[in-house]
Amino acid sequence: MPELLANLNPEQYAAVTLPNEPALILAGAGSGKTRVLITRIAWLIQQGFASPPTVLAVTFTNKAAREMMSRLSALLPIDTRGMWIGTFHGLCNRMLRAHHRDAGLPATFQILDTADQLSSIKRLMKGLNVDDEKYPPKNLQYFINNAKEQGLRPDQVDASDSFNLKFVELYRAYEQQCQREGVVDFPELLLRCYELLAHNAPLRAHYQARFRQILVDEFQDTNKLQYAWLKLLAGQSNAIFAVGDDDQSIYAFRGANVGNMLDFEREFNVRNLIKLEQNYRSHGYILDTANALIAHNSRRLGKNLRTDAGHGEPVRVYEAATDMQEAGWIVEEIRALINNGGLARSEIAVLYRSNAQSRTIEHTLVNAGIAYRVYGGLRFFERQEVKHALAYLRLIDNPNDDTAFARVVNFPTRGIGARSIEQLADAARLYGCSMAAAIPYVTGKAGTSLGSFANLIAKIRAETERMSLPETVEYVVRVSGLSEFYQNEREGQDRLENLQELVNAATAFVSEEGYGLDTPARSIRLNPGATAAPELGSSADEGDTVVLEAASLTDPAQNPDTMTPLAGFLSHASLEAGENQAQAGQEAVQLMTVHAAKGLEFTAVFITGLEEGLFPHENSATEADGLEEERRLMYVAITRAKERLYLSFAQSRMLHGQTRYNVRSRFFDELPETTLKWLTPKVEAGSRWGGRSDNAGWGRDWFARPDRGGPAANFEAAPLPAFANEQRAADTGFRVGQQVFHTKFGEGAITALEGSGADARAQVRFKRHGEKWLALSVAKLQVVE
Ligand code: ATP
Ligand code: MG
Repeated sequence: MPELLANLNPEQYAAVTLPNEPALILAGAGSGKTRVLITRIAWLIQQGFASPPTVLAVTFTNKAAREMMSRLSALLPIDTRGMWIGTFHGLCNRMLRAHHRDAGLPATFQILDTADQLSSIKRLMKGLNVDDEKYPPKNLQYFINNAKEQGLRPDQVDASDSFNLKFVELYRAYEQQCQREGVVDFPELLLRCYELLAHNAPLRAHYQARFRQILVDEFQDTNKLQYAWLKLLAGQSNAIFAVGDDDQSIYAFRGANVGNMLDFEREFNVRNLIKLEQNYRSHGYILDTANALIAHNSRRLGKNLRTDAGHGEPVRVYEAATDMQEAGWIVEEIRALINNGGLARSEIAVLYRSNAQSRTIEHTLVNAGIAYRVYGGLRFFERQEVKHALAYLRLIDNPNDDTAFARVVNFPTRGIGARSIEQLADAARLYGCSMAAAIPYVTGKAGTSLGSFANLIAKIRAETERMSLPETVEYVVRVSGLSEFYQNEREGQDRLENLQELVNAATAFVSEEGYGLDTPARSIRLNPGATAAPELGSSADEGDTVVLEAASLTDPAQNPDTMTPLAGFLSHASLEAGENQAQAGQEAVQLMTVHAAKGLEFTAVFITGLEEGLFPHENSATEADGLEEERRLMYVAITRAKERLYLSFAQSRMLHGQTRYNVRSRFFDELPETTLKWLTPKVEAGSRWGGRSDNAGWGRDWFARPDRGGPAANFEAAPLPAFANEQRAADTGFRVGQQVFHTKFGEGAITALEGSGADARAQVRFKRHGEKWLALSVAKLQVVE
């Protein structure tokens, strides 16, 4: 067995070996918090202070949970499956599946992701004839989620004005709709599980007796409800071991509450507060950059980070004329990192503030033939064709799931028009049942078509009864007509491949979860070796309120198969952050939002789109604490990098179908000049004519490192755009002083020109909008005669 504690510094050692008391490890990025948490679990087990089933560990992403399990099994020869390791949502889902009846849910309840939730809300409002201009569905969604995250049911929401009253009324109607359809949204998973434990004393006592070790990573991002859930599990006698970093709190917009750290300290009487100040992740320049940035925030608990790693390479900054050009530069750099630097693609990450930014970068990577994987964003499970197939699967499990029903009742088209669907929805409302159950009430041609859809679902359900999960998925894709539909579609090839990939994902799922490959998708298999015990209250006889005695409880966690493979797979599809998408396993450059990068680390990191309005995001400017949160987000982004950090921005960018003209992010003014290296001239505010920076020779030292094996001599810096310091761009056809017209800004006069070819840009003094720099390849200026 490896010596678990050998490589820890004294503070880390102290944290890992703390007595079984509440503890808070407060420390900056890369200081080993996650490592300490994992090592502590291993140490507790190794020393016999805990057994695997007594461990509950909360991570921030599914990816982190998987990583934790594989690192634990590498440290100790134990079966990690007895432990509960996962995200708040994942763990709550698991508990609700095991006790669905006590929680008031059908065994096959489905999870609505954020998009499903919105369409469910829209459907509700339409049915109730609510004016969606006065009450925008998105606002209602926010209202509901916010209330749930505060732990509030409709009756508990304080509705002081008529506007709120309407929202509360709609919240109530939405709850009824979800209950009728047997679906839960993300915050409902948490609230329902919290209420389950809060209202069911025997169950609570059971889990309190079981989870003696509760460990929470990224504690700064827990919201009020999650914290309350943890408190219920901890009860009077279990110690919570929490690790976190107030500077990395980036979910305040979703109700995360840094105050939980202070509450935790106070309420649990935490005597063990440990700070870690040594950073093991990043080279010096990168860390200095992060430290300088976060120092601009005023509300901090205060801590420092140092490193022994040496300065390393400076942080490289690049200004592009357009987003296309920015992407081109990134791809060139990536190529150099791989070819000359010897980096694996997966050691390189490209980060952005908003999902919409990934499209251009993806496009450029595709053209360059570099494999990449997008985390978050349009996740594999969110693609149209995949959601269609999942909807059929959901209907087999739960015909009352109206969201799934509405999605595929006429897809592929089977002559069921919008009017028929409306008729059906009306009937469902009238009789207080699901759409599927209301079909017999619809007469005429519409009724016939609907009837044959119901028959199709019934047929699929019967035929797949004994099939394994992958077989079921394959069957559904075929018999639903989806594969034929996409075969006949002009650009359906990609979609067909994704559907095939869904079958692969199902295969991977059953083997990873330890189901046999031939386990029927809808059977609950008991663990070999586990006592064949009845499920907890949820599977007890119809209608009975089950009184449980803690001692007599069979622990569902000893037997993870209280979920059928199909239910497990559907939950996985809703909860998964896109980690098992197409090309899983392929060595690929990692693309993700900064939010999704939390807790991860990469050798080289690109932070892109560093423009005012984008990062910091324009929405943050209107909120009091918004800017500080954006800065923490930037701090998270910077501290993902181990050896190489690149920052870039573009003067113009196509986003949501519009060209935006941007100035560089204010964060640049908060970073120390000594750690940065501008690859393009740094233009001081108020002047565009900065000196040319010295590009010669950068990167060679780093690539020459022996462990990279890169032939340093071959390395060439990526070509840089030629920004000539000249007042006239020869090939643009424009000249200084010319009167021009721009579709958005109107009329103006050119005051300066620079660059050439695709990089050419002009400064124009507009009559109404003042002076702006425009990329000529994008701006399409017209000369006014
Ligand atoms: P974040 O705040 O970003 O989540 P963290 O505090 O959780 O960071 P870790 O991810 O646990 O930090 O550790 C950062 C890196 O430093 C990891 O690669 C980890 O293996 C390494 N590391 C941590 N402690 C040590 C140590 N004592 N010796 C060597 N490497 C270490
Ligand atoms: Mg961590």
